[in-house]
Amino acid sequence: MTTALDLVLIPHVIGGERILDAERVGPVFDPATGRQTGEVVWASAERVHEAALIAQRAQRAWRETGLGRRQQIMFRLREIISSRAEELARIITAEHGKTVDDALGEVARGLENVEFCTGLMHHLKGDHSEQVSAGLDVYQLRQPVGVVACITPFNFPAMVPLWMVTTAIAAGNAVILKPSERDPSAAVWLADAFREAGVPDGILNVVHGDREAVDAILDDPVIRAVSFVGSTAIARHIYERAAAAGKRVQALGGAKNHMIVMPDADLDAAADAAVSAAYGSAGERCMAISVVVAVGDVADDLVARIAERLPGLVVGDGRDPATAMGPLISRDALDRVTGFVAGATAEGADLVVDGRQGSLPGDGHFIGPSLVDRVRPGMRVYDEEIFGPVLSIVRVADYAAAVDLVNASRYANGTAVFTRDGKTARQFGFDIEVGMVGVNVPIPVPIGAYSFGGWKDSLFGDTHMYGPEAFAFYTRRKVITTRWPEPSESQISLGFPTH
Ligand code: NAD
Repeated sequence: MTTALDLVLIPHVIGGERILDAERVGPVFDPATGRQTGEVVWASAERVHEAALIAQRAQRAWRETGLGRRQQIMFRLREIISSRAEELARIITAEHGKTVDDALGEVARGLENVEFCTGLMHHLKGDHSEQVSAGLDVYQLRQPVGVVACITPFNFPAMVPLWMVTTAIAAGNAVILKPSERDPSAAVWLADAFREAGVPDGILNVVHGDREAVDAILDDPVIRAVSFVGSTAIARHIYERAAAAGKRVQALGGAKNHMIVMPDADLDAAADAAVSAAYGSAGERCMAISVVVAVGDVADDLVARIAERLPGLVVGDGRDPATAMGPLISRDALDRVTGFVAGATAEGADLVVDGRQGSLPGDGHFIGPSLVDRVRPGMRVYDEEIFGPVLSIVRVADYAAAVDLVNASRYANGTAVFTRDGKTARQFGFDIEVGMVGVNVPIPVPIGAYSFGGWKDSLFGDTHMYGPEAFAFYTRRKVITTRWPEPSESQISLGFPTH
């Protein structure tokens, strides 16, 4: 649906219905042109509660649906999304700005979790202990939590919802998905795909909005669990408020990922990896590399090799196949990233490549790649999450100093070491206080059979996303102890039961 100004109207999807009436709406932009292209409805607290009640009713029937049928739906969902991946990728690019190729990668990583969920029969298996005492058996069930909320960030508008929503639904829950208000259309597309795959109305509800909708979710007594991915300040707010309301909660926050380059590393491979991981998706990835830690005497050579690769990165509209790096999500994000680049020199760092220079296309939210050398802790460019195409170089004397630097960071999402020495790599895995670690792999996002999550201020809660830990998060364990005595065996005993 469009308005007179040709703005696309983006609806809630609640109980299978598209809902467009709302007291408040928000603008949606095409980051490559800077123009508003859509308007998304924002939910009030009443709308959130109405969706939660619809979800609650639908969930009672869904948890009775056989696991075999749920599995078939997951297989169908996989086919629907993979056969139309390009359509979804183009929707992502139009509102997020990343290249279509990158958006296709995002869809593929989201699909990995759908594939994992096709094995839900196995993932939901319980445990059984026979004859724990004479004639006494114990078994454990994994039952759905009920209605769960998934609150997702702008930078992966399809992948992060697919991480959360798919597992929650596979496990028998109903979902309220609150996507980022900045690129909300992918979530509506996914709701259609789930419905087409056979997920009943009311099981996946998409409710848009800002803080008002989120706080309503956190306080709503019908919603029993909350999964969140976003910035650290909001993650902390989600964790505290949802937990105070007695909900199960996992809240993934921001990141500042370090890549350590040891003196024995292959410097061309390290430079290629640093450029790919720092500037891919314009640095708007939670697993992007934002700091390269140059160990020993590699810095001059490594910085030169990184710098010489940057003029080759084409900055432009993500729909253009020649583009390597698209725009930032918003004008605010552009101003923020520009501020970090502008401030780096005053803080005492060397601005080796200035992304503000050079020809940048049109009125979109564009900035080129920046490279900042001689960065130190205490500088804003080091301490804060930039979430843009700015790579810092920190020079340290040895391996121990590199480890100390990384372990002193408040963020601990991902990290990587580049080395040819197996003993150093093994020691790094042992020493480093970070949730996801790569050895000569700059963006070590775990495959679907493992779970995804950082430590410290990168994750509040104790379970990670997707994979086995997600099935644990979205289910409650129930332990049933059984005995089938003959009437003659019955007796009164006030003592503590023993074996
Ligand atoms: P954000 O924190 O601004 O928004 C995330 C979600 O919270 C959105 O749905 C948004 O509508 C909602 N929200 C925003 N402000 C709120 C408020 N005041 N109260 C309640 N809810 C609010 O994050 P973003 O800018 O969309 O995404 C980028 C951030 O997400 C970065 O910090 C990035 O590192 C992080 N991220 C982390 C991971 C991870 O795995 N740890 C993955 C992806 C993104």
